[in-house]
Amino acid sequence: MMSKETYVGGDIIETTGGNNLSYAKDVIENIGLQVIQDGKTNGVFYGINKDAPIISTNINLKKFLVHFRRPKNYDGKYGFDWLREEYIYPMVTVTNDNNGNPINAPTALCKNTTALKQEYLNGVVNNIKPYTINYYPAWLAIFPHTTTSQFPHGSDMHENGVNLDLQIDEIDQIISDGTEILFESQNQYLKISPKKIAISDVISSNRKSRNVNGRNINYYKLERKVNIKCTGGVLNKHEEIKVFAKLDQEKVEVGKLMVYKNNVIPKAEIVVVNVLTGGNKAQLKDDYQYLFKRQSFNQALIRAEVKVDTEFDLNKLNTNPDINNFLISVNGYSAKKKLSEIIRLYELYGKYTVPGGINSNNTHRTYLFFTSLSSGGTRGICSLNQNNVWGNSYLVFNIGLQNPRTIIHECGHSFSLPHTFEQAGNPRHVFYQGYTDAYMDYDWRQGGSPNPYSSKMYSIFKWQWEIMRNDRSLIFNY
Ligand SMILES: [Zn+2]
Repeated sequence: MMSKETYVGGDIIETTGGNNLSYAKDVIENIGLQVIQDGKTNGVFYGINKDAPIISTNINLKKFLVHFRRPKNYDGKYGFDWLREEYIYPMVTVTNDNNGNPINAPTALCKNTTALKQEYLNGVVNNIKPYTINYYPAWLAIFPHTTTSQFPHGSDMHENGVNLDLQIDEIDQIISDGTEILFESQNQYLKISPKKIAISDVISSNRKSRNVNGRNINYYKLERKVNIKCTGGVLNKHEEIKVFAKLDQEKVEVGKLMVYKNNVIPKAEIVVVNVLTGGNKAQLKDDYQYLFKRQSFNQALIRAEVKVDTEFDLNKLNTNPDINNFLISVNGYSAKKKLSEIIRLYELYGKYTVPGGINSNNTHRTYLFFTSLSSGGTRGICSLNQNNVWGNSYLVFNIGLQNPRTIIHECGHSFSLPHTFEQAGNPRHVFYQGYTDAYMDYDWRQGGSPNPYSSKMYSIFKWQWEIMRNDRSLIFNY
């Protein structure tokens, strides 16, 4: 047996003659290298199938991980989700639980962290564990840019790609040693540029540090450093962009971006109904169509479009005793009854009705009713039946008309999303109310303080993309 030379910690050269080193079983790359992890040192690299190298200097690859992250000016234009550290570690002080009981202690923002972690691994074929660390890839969802013959449901929405941040977390201190970070797309239609970054480029930016669960992590953030696009065809399965760190012959996979399959683009048709009840005519936020199309459901690769923009003028129908009774009584109704009565009247006297009813399985449209009526502090309400099934309709009241989050949040309910903090009805995950930037969160907390993200709550989580994409109101054949 040939002699075995190893490098330990970069400085001590240790010669061993046998099989007495234990090392990780996974072959990282098919270039004759295995990563040996002894748990104490910075790692040992060991060449096989070749003669022992002549050792002159410290050439081992510094250890670090690479994560894809969302730029800070993100406003919902594409789907991007990742496992936030504060969701799984007690890093943020939660004042009250979702029933209002005081906590006042750093608390993980998601109640079942094990299940949440698993969401980011669902659909990952080549799971990685660089340097024995569990790695949870971020997920990106972008529309394919295609000709009609390549794919009829493509879009120019992400024609120029999306620019993402890179976060490089140190395990060893990174030095300017010629290491490169390489990006490799596994699909011909999925493109990333640049294809590599020099480590000198990384360390020319500011080295920062953050505390995660009592542990200090030094890291670099390279803003909008990589561009990713899907062009010329679709992704028939979830795809990945692999990230490698490379120095001489050493090449280790240190990161990954998952890209959501985009071969099925469901359509959501919205019927917008201005319900006129006297007084001032309601005015919905004038760019609401853009919100539907480009800042919300597009994240789940759902093409949401306003199909009908109409009025339901109850004043003109007030000789009808049914409608007249509604107009007289409506201010005394609860928010829920206001919506159910408007639906009932629209089904009887409105124009764009559906056999079986708006909230039935026959309906492959979503009805957005809006009104100048108010209902206390309620901005909007969505139909929910006694079996906990969300309907295909919602109502936006006076104080929600100019609130973009209300218009999308209520529609999210109609696409089967409960609140992120909802505990009833066996939800997929439960977070504390008012601590996330999710559309389906609230902008206030139990205990009364505001959600710090309140002006930019654009997030829809990856597991929410999946719930919405299965909603009964969507159209798949068009
Ligand atoms: Zn809600």
